[in-house]
Amino acid sequence: MSRSAFGVVVLLLAAGAALAVGMARCEGTPPTIETASPLAVGADARTVTVEIADSGAGVRSLRATLVHAGGEAPLSEREFAGSLLPFLGTHSGRERVDLAIDAKALGLASGDAKLRLAARDLSWRDFGRGNEAIVEVPVSIDYRPPTLSLAPGIIYAKRAGSVALSYDVSDDTERDGVEVGEHFYPSIPVSGEGVPAGRRFALFPLAQELPSDVKIAVVAVDHAGNRSSRTPQINIKDRIYPNESIVLSQGFLDHKIADLAGATGVNDSDKLKAFQEINTRIRRENEEKIRAVTAESAPELLFTEAFAQMPDSQVRSAFAERRSYLLDGQKVSESIHYGYDLASLAGAPVPASNAGRVLFADELGIYGNCVILDHGLGLHSLYGHLSNIDVKAGDSVEKGQTLGQSGQTGLAGGDHLHFAILLRGVYVDPVEWWDPKWVREHALGPLAAARK
Ligand SMILES: [Zn+2]
Repeated sequence: MSRSAFGVVVLLLAAGAALAVGMARCEGTPPTIETASPLAVGADARTVTVEIADSGAGVRSLRATLVHAGGEAPLSEREFAGSLLPFLGTHSGRERVDLAIDAKALGLASGDAKLRLAARDLSWRDFGRGNEAIVEVPVSIDYRPPTLSLAPGIIYAKRAGSVALSYDVSDDTERDGVEVGEHFYPSIPVSGEGVPAGRRFALFPLAQELPSDVKIAVVAVDHAGNRSSRTPQINIKDRIYPNESIVLSQGFLDHKIADLAGATGVNDSDKLKAFQEINTRIRRENEEKIRAVTAESAPELLFTEAFAQMPDSQVRSAFAERRSYLLDGQKVSESIHYGYDLASLAGAPVPASNAGRVLFADELGIYGNCVILDHGLGLHSLYGHLSNIDVKAGDSVEKGQTLGQSGQTGLAGGDHLHFAILLRGVYVDPVEWWDPKWVREHALGPLAAARK
């Protein structure tokens, strides 16, 4: 081939490539727009996420307008990085925009409106303006918060205790429950003959470590994010952390800790270090597992009477005891003990403290052989250090049914039952749940009253 002929071929190839690119840049497929629909906007500004995608030339722009009875309010106008010339700039096939809609600041009245989203791509179509897609989303502007009414009266509770209350919300409520400081505990709807629609019942914990000035509020939030809140009158009786010292023996470290280290994968070349790791890291991991297990609960109470303490057992600890572990007179570790140690005969049968369902029946680190029961509405009981387990996960159990035998598996220095109650994943003092009068007046009574 001659030199000039070669030049012609190269030119033709270049022209062909340009034509191909030009044809590609003349594509006629508009971008797609995705967002939640329909939308509700309340008294507070709300952020709406819009996703624009274009598989051809790429996303060029988005214009968002709120179309309402009085006219149009521009919300946002965005141009995205990208060039009309091929091979220049980066062409994005997907863009995400967070649109802030503040209907109150725009001076809009309550009522129906539309969010109009217009997106263009980087195609050369429409005289270089690109293909346009328009999506209209119905918007309801609603400034009225849900109604929320709380029965009057003072609730007497205590730190590390459990609280039940009921209230009524209007049917536009989307989410409601009780806020205790940073924590949120959802309610359950209560239904029955003659019970008003919107009746709710909440059972929630007051954790031992709550600050004494903690803010407690019953809240209801509607579809537009409007929020109502009421402060229940709860008189919280304080309780302290009792202190307790536990003296470790060399025999405990040499035998118990060696076994436990083996079972939990902790290096035990230094028995004291192994104990310290078991009492911190392994304890923390075991607590995380307990939180995961107790996230599951039946939507109604599975029992009809008070919980029972293990028969003929002696309480060998206080609730929320701060434990210092001593070796040769030196403090080597500490923990907080959120339960009761109940001592009976070695290998004594351990009965279910109340009717429920087995969620967990397995080995669990410091708790040894452990059973966790669900009693409904976020209430769980835990049985640790068993020598033997007689039930399996999924079993329904009756109050008094044998779950296994007491023992000293896990981090236990002698045969006893470690018994704990959790409400919504928070340890609460079981004493309340063991007391038939308290259960009647503070749990089953309020639930029965909510059903009237
Ligand atoms: Zn214990």
